[in-house]
Amino acid sequence: MIHDLEKIKEEIIEIRRHLHKNPELSFHEEKTPAFIYDYLKKLGNFDIRKNVGGRGVVAELKGKNDGKTVALRADFDALPIQDEKDVSYKSEIDGVMHACGHDAHTASLLGVAKVLSQNTKKFDGKVRFIFQHAEEVSPGGAIAMIEDGCLDGVDAIFGNHMSSEKEVGITLYGYGEIMANADMFQIIIQGKGGHGAYPHNSIDPIVLSANIITNFQQIVSRRTSSIEPCVLSVCKINSGTASNIIPDTAEIAGTVRTYNKNVQDKIITEMEKIIKGICESAGANYTFKYEKGYPAVINTKDETDLVKEVMNTLGFESEEMKPRMGGEDFSYYLQKVPGSFFYTGSGNKKKGITYPHHHPKFDVDENSIINAAKVLLTSALEYLKK
Ligand code: MN
Repeated sequence: MIHDLEKIKEEIIEIRRHLHKNPELSFHEEKTPAFIYDYLKKLGNFDIRKNVGGRGVVAELKGKNDGKTVALRADFDALPIQDEKDVSYKSEIDGVMHACGHDAHTASLLGVAKVLSQNTKKFDGKVRFIFQHAEEVSPGGAIAMIEDGCLDGVDAIFGNHMSSEKEVGITLYGYGEIMANADMFQIIIQGKGGHGAYPHNSIDPIVLSANIITNFQQIVSRRTSSIEPCVLSVCKINSGTASNIIPDTAEIAGTVRTYNKNVQDKIITEMEKIIKGICESAGANYTFKYEKGYPAVINTKDETDLVKEVMNTLGFESEEMKPRMGGEDFSYYLQKVPGSFFYTGSGNKKKGITYPHHHPKFDVDENSIINAAKVLLTSALEYLKK
């Protein structure tokens, strides 16, 4: 069936280019799920559901005899970024772009769907195709699709993400925790505004912000274990209007990334202690909003062994990946069923495809789409054989 994939390579690339030209933002996808639905419908032998958990599309294919059910997932939302590439398949939607490769994920999974639909006599069990909307924006599409039954009866799941950091031809598997808990926070400090010349008559929220941010630096370095990965970054600070006015309020916002739930809770507690202590001592008020985002992506061992074996059998240069501090809502599927999320190298230095994900010039080497499809297809078949 690998040969069948090679044969439809041009078609898969065309699909990717079509999606790339027509990107849609998270939770606003309309044409993309309709395109996926129509494509699968034309193939003929799928049991398809649309509007799953909102905008997702789920399709199931039956093999020759009864057996296990394996799920394959691809996400299909784009980002609010202006496409600055100079290519024929550049985004035709102003300010919206497939800058994370979700177009490639979807194209590769549609390719797998086509090949498997033409070879149903060659496997037992079922393959469930999960096309997910809204991966980029919390709460994400996965959780709603799961609540709407997309994993019911599924024994294991596999999913792919492109990796522009790695050259095409390289594939990455990872055991256990591979992506972090990805959280956001926002602090509003309510001081008391006044004249810059008479600060003693005000409660200066800018000085309090500075103290809070400085003290935050001690959380990771002094209050959590050095062998537990965690990051606390203040990424936004907003206050003030003029050089002689002490403002009323200041806003601080940022992100926290962890793997261990205890570390996550500890960081939240320590943040609140610092904010409370500093604000109270100055007589200021505050609000502290902490939003837990996607949980950590935790791959299971047997399914990762399988993916690693598949990558080697297919002849890819495979590497074990280290945990990353990024987030992905594939984690929700893995909280329900065993599975493995892997990466496919999509960069190409010679072709100048070197920009990182979420960059206005992000692109993928399109050979990576077929590579990802090969790993997805073979992983599904190998799993069903077990
Ligand atoms: Mn992504």
